[in-house]
Amino acid sequence: MGTPPTTGASFHEMWRDLAPIGRHAETGGYRRYAWTGADTDCRAWFQAQAEARGLTYELDRNGNQWAWLGDPTAGDAVVTGSHLDSVPDGGAFDGPLGVVSSFAALDQLRARGAAPTKPLAIVNFGDEEGARFGLACVGSRLTAGQLGPEQAHALRDADGVTLPRAMERAGYDPEAIGPDPERLARIGAFVELHIEQGRGLNDTSHPVGVASAIWPHGRWRFDFHGEANHAGTTRLDDRRDPMLTYANTVLAARKKARLAGALATFGKVGVEPNGVNAIAGLVRGWLDSRAPDEETLAAVVGEIERAAVERGRRDGVDVRVTRESFTPIVEFAHDLRDQLSGLLGGVPVLPTGAGHDAGILSASVPTAMLFVRNPTGVSHSPAETAGEDDCLAGVAALAQVLEGLACH
Ligand SMILES: [Zn+2]
Repeated sequence: MGTPPTTGASFHEMWRDLAPIGRHAETGGYRRYAWTGADTDCRAWFQAQAEARGLTYELDRNGNQWAWLGDPTAGDAVVTGSHLDSVPDGGAFDGPLGVVSSFAALDQLRARGAAPTKPLAIVNFGDEEGARFGLACVGSRLTAGQLGPEQAHALRDADGVTLPRAMERAGYDPEAIGPDPERLARIGAFVELHIEQGRGLNDTSHPVGVASAIWPHGRWRFDFHGEANHAGTTRLDDRRDPMLTYANTVLAARKKARLAGALATFGKVGVEPNGVNAIAGLVRGWLDSRAPDEETLAAVVGEIERAAVERGRRDGVDVRVTRESFTPIVEFAHDLRDQLSGLLGGVPVLPTGAGHDAGILSASVPTAMLFVRNPTGVSHSPAETAGEDDCLAGVAALAQVLEGLACH
């Protein structure tokens, strides 16, 4: 038996090998949905990378993949990684940048002869984007016990295929899924490197930053009830047109968010009867709102609701608001965050409005994130990109962090 290899394919080679998997020929976007052929190919790639480096490969009960350097059961492990699945027509970087950088960073550590005193692992969390079953972070939620097996078994895709059936078809045992506290107990720290999904780092001279928190966010359904009527025969004064109230509310949301330093977006709308020559009877708009803290978020949404109700009174429209989901703020572990920032020589510390596996895990283990600069800020689109130098700076930063956490 020879010595296990200490380095594998370079960042470029790994990137090149992953690039064609699940890419749509016309849009150029990625369609790597959980438990599909593209997902299977990504998983095979991960396993091959682990084995080529002589790492111990494991598939956990929830379908997350692990590659270990050192004893997986020794405890206090330093874990890094991200996800390989995508949103519909997603970009190449969201997820894969973290996984590829993890392997490349581990190679750098080993190449310079760093001697980890703790186990190191790379993870690929399954079904992070939730593109197929409508719920994000399924792999990490199951592991952390934030999603029960019964709830997971009830998830269905657009074709009515259940999650267990999809897992089974891909060769996994859906009966095994559930909380995995023993696995979580092995982890001393989890660091996820991710492309920044915004332009925060663009205002700085730094290619890499450390995450402070994930903003609290939620979704609210606004129902504007008016009266459907003929667009040609109903006098303006006689109308109860919910479209006016809706339009005014969209503008109010923008203004209130801007004043509070928050975000508010009406990105989905439904109209009844939805006819060109009919005044709408009902407009239903979905508000997505996020803010630096929960108080601000509640205040912004409250103000938008008040603006809607006030305008509704003028329009003869009844407004009802229903909160459909809410995710509290995730504050990453302050000690770990400060440690990372110190190891990297005082890089920017910035929040994000997007959810991540690291956010799910932060309830169970000390967790941190590194962001790599995104020149356009575009994400969840084929236009998502990061410069080559910035990607390599991300690898170097991650290697430094892993060395600092696992080798002393
Ligand atoms: Zn992601």
